[in-house]
Amino acid sequence: MSDHPNKLFLNGNSSEGRGSAPIPQTNPATEEIFCEVFAASEADVHEAVEGAQQAYLQAWRGLAPRQRADVLFSIARIIRENLETLAQLECENIGKPIGDARDEIGLGARVFEYYAGAISKFFGQTIPVARGGFDFTLRQPMGVVAAIVPWNFPFPIACWKVAPALAAGNTVVLKPASQSPLTAIRLGELAHRAGLPPGALQVIPGQGSAIGDALATHPLIRKVSFTGSTEIGSRIMGLAARDLKRVSLELGGKSPNIVFADADLEQAATSSPMSVFANTGQDCCARSRVFVERKVFDRFVELFVDATGKLLVDDPAKDSTQIGPLVSAGQRRVAEEFIEGARKAGRVVATGGERPFAKGFYLQPTVLLDVEPSDRVWQEEVFGPVVCIRPFDDEAQMLREVNDSRYGLSGSIWTNDLKRALRVSRQVESGVLSINSHSSVHVEAPFGGFKQSGLGRDLGMTAMEGYTELKNIYVAE
Ligand code: NAP
Repeated sequence: MSDHPNKLFLNGNSSEGRGSAPIPQTNPATEEIFCEVFAASEADVHEAVEGAQQAYLQAWRGLAPRQRADVLFSIARIIRENLETLAQLECENIGKPIGDARDEIGLGARVFEYYAGAISKFFGQTIPVARGGFDFTLRQPMGVVAAIVPWNFPFPIACWKVAPALAAGNTVVLKPASQSPLTAIRLGELAHRAGLPPGALQVIPGQGSAIGDALATHPLIRKVSFTGSTEIGSRIMGLAARDLKRVSLELGGKSPNIVFADADLEQAATSSPMSVFANTGQDCCARSRVFVERKVFDRFVELFVDATGKLLVDDPAKDSTQIGPLVSAGQRRVAEEFIEGARKAGRVVATGGERPFAKGFYLQPTVLLDVEPSDRVWQEEVFGPVVCIRPFDDEAQMLREVNDSRYGLSGSIWTNDLKRALRVSRQVESGVLSINSHSSVHVEAPFGGFKQSGLGRDLGMTAMEGYTELKNIYVAE
């Protein structure tokens, strides 16, 4: 048990915190509790924020940019040195296939490298104002940032927030999800070992329902950067509005995958299953609504179902596994309820829908056909391995259905007609799109959603803007 990072990381030290009860951690592949993590109380939130404020004022914001960059490069290096241990922790904690876990830890390291490099390339402007003189802008840090992250991509999403916030000169209080706190705690320890001053990254595991409000309303928190459900994001925005804290929100999705008849059908159909079933469908970018031009619908479905059947659902600790279990019994139950609802409404389950093993929170990748746009499973985010495929005849009607969603996070368009690709991509209401690809996340490019999928952007230089205040200074001549 003691090998697992299971304590708060406060002011450069591990702390047992004062939360009411430790949080048990269950291995989703075995259903066994393998460790308990100490939880933060509201008093710990205050201690964390005050320590982060001290670190901001006394140690971090005044550091020369070169020194800040050196620390971030060191954090990237130490993440890479610990890649295997971190990947194993993620695999055990949330059932993430070990190959994916390794990729995601590597992604976290790349994020630190990117923002370490960004420090010397992120600057203001000089502006030729009408009255003459000299006018310029500064990008200044905000102070203490609260980063609240979900359990589906625990390590990379923590890095998406912590790295640019630190790069911009802020300090951070990181609250991991209760189901996945281990790699976040280890990140705090490693960053400290890499030279980050004590208090500059505080890690406080704890139930969101118990400490979330304290974080979102603490007067010293200047920004809340949140990734999670639309419901909690909306709540945080309401609380943050009281003293006009800055917020960025990366929320849910119900992303479209649009396939035109002129596309490379083989490539589209065989790559599409992993665009929704990767991470067992627990992905905000999951392309869970597939729109296929009717002329090629039957062939597409045949190829898609065949490719889905070949996906290897297995123990996440094995290198060969593509699909692991869901994170919890509750998360699987939610997905199963969507499938049951579809069955009851007479929809066709083309493949999947069953539990493949007696133990572990597994669920077969599930393909639903004959679904109607008004169906709950077509409208709502399942956050599990469930996809719906519908035919379309008319581009304009298809686009109305694509945009008939409260979400607008990501999506794909498959066509070899460039004009159509550009025309359609302009009209899809989403923050991230890929053409003839399912790639949504690039460290160098902005990531985030339209509508109820969020506000603000992670990644790229855009995220640096989101962790700074813009100041204009005028000098008379
Ligand atoms: P969630 O329930 O909203 O939880 C996300 C985080 O918020 C967790 O750390 C959670 O802590 C915390 N939280 C819960 N209640 C809170 C409160 N009252 N105040 C402050 N924080 C609180 O979402 P989830 O189930 O973990 O994640 C799934 C959702 O995240 C999906 O909707 C998915 O689409 C979305 N997501 C979006 C993106 C994106 O980039 N757009 C990426 C990944 C996931 P506890 O765990 O302690 O409850």
